[in-house]
Amino acid sequence: MTASPAGGIDALCRFIQQACRADLVLAVEVDGTGRAVPAGASSVQAFGACNLQRSGLLDRSWATSPVPANDFRLPSAILHALNQPPASLLFVPTPVDHAPASGLLLLWADEAPPLSVIGELPLLGDSIARLLSARRDSVRQLAMRDQFSDLFESVPSGIVLIDGDGQGAMINERAGVLLGCDAGQHRAGKLADMMRRLRENCSNREELERAYAAHVSDVNFSASMHWTLGERTLEVTTHPVRGEGGEGRIWLFTDVTAELMMAAELRRLATSDPLTGVPNRRHFEERSAEILAARQAGSGHSVTVMMLDVDHFKRINDNYGHPAGDEVLKVVARRCREALRDRDLFARFGGEEFIALLASSVEDDLPAIAERVRAAIADEPVQLGDLSIPITVSIGTATAEVVKTLGSNLMDDLIGRADEALYQAKQGGRNRVMMARS
Ligand code: GH3
Ligand code: MG
Ligand code: MG
Repeated sequence: MTASPAGGIDALCRFIQQACRADLVLAVEVDGTGRAVPAGASSVQAFGACNLQRSGLLDRSWATSPVPANDFRLPSAILHALNQPPASLLFVPTPVDHAPASGLLLLWADEAPPLSVIGELPLLGDSIARLLSARRDSVRQLAMRDQFSDLFESVPSGIVLIDGDGQGAMINERAGVLLGCDAGQHRAGKLADMMRRLRENCSNREELERAYAAHVSDVNFSASMHWTLGERTLEVTTHPVRGEGGEGRIWLFTDVTAELMMAAELRRLATSDPLTGVPNRRHFEERSAEILAARQAGSGHSVTVMMLDVDHFKRINDNYGHPAGDEVLKVVARRCREALRDRDLFARFGGEEFIALLASSVEDDLPAIAERVRAAIADEPVQLGDLSIPITVSIGTATAEVVKTLGSNLMDDLIGRADEALYQAKQGGRNRVMMARS
């Protein structure tokens, strides 16, 4: 695109050079500070960027007669373009908005011959000015196009850009990899097939189909949805973009797998006990409140809280050291978790105390569950290298019927009663289960 204005300026320079029998004609684009860049020349001899501020060329008002070149201090970049110092020169200003000091510089090695055609030069100067403006516009457009394509390829997302007429679509490399096609221009129909195939590969395809089907003929439709592709999750955002015809649309595909995994890991860290890996007290309190609220919505259910405390744990620390005590706590947590059912909520309550919320119903055998947990710890000593450490736990439980009218202190009440039962288990000789009477 630049070829035409630039080539046009060269051609005009050559024409002027022949008509005026000049040795060199240069079109120079000069900004307000005197900085000059070549815009065209009558010969292939180009010159480098230079400054004309102190050359004297920009300071005088030019008529159409050549003057002795000695009166000026031409930059060496321009002198080199001619191969020898010029004897005479003429500058024809061709101001344009972005470069108000631009002009045509005619150079003669010897004295300029008298020529009637020189009087016509200002007219050609106007053409040069127009070509300079056109050149600037096309350079700008090209730069914008380059910037756009850099952006299009460098954003870390797949991009599908549907033209305003709804017929064509441009896709970048990343979108091409996802859709199984080359980057570049595609027919919108073909693209719709490829996007449908990608959606059909998603494990949540039914949800996606439903969501998109509801908007199939809505040109203003915007949405952001997660497309689940095996282990990966893509955040797929679409919205209309302005364009002729009004059917322009952009689709952005961003892989958010790492972010989602990090968020899940942060959630896990915030809710679990770092030593044993089981949920922490905070998580227990939040989840148990949710579970009770859900139970209250129905009725006829009962819930049981089970408090568990390792017997004489201080002695384990004293006899085998704190790190060994830590290992014992890990084993206790694991054995409890295994002895409970998946649907029971289990957590480390603090220190060597653990808690469980048993999702029980009338036919559940709660004493048997609590006894199973006790036995899981007591029946087998904890093996730490050569050490074999016998461990027992005491357990207290409390059960309550969940009815719709219960207040929010049900959990505190259950924990208090279970703790009391636990105290009785300790008093009764440890390594036993005590159930609070309801
Ligand atoms: P009881 O049978 O009456 O429960 O006796 P106990 O020794 O278990 O009870 P006590 O509450 O006196 O001691 C609990 C000990 O648990 C004290 C504390 O140092 C220890 N402990 C608490 N948290 C940890 C932990 O994370 N790691 C280790 N190694 N010890 C812990
Ligand atoms: Mg304790
Ligand atoms: Mg204890």
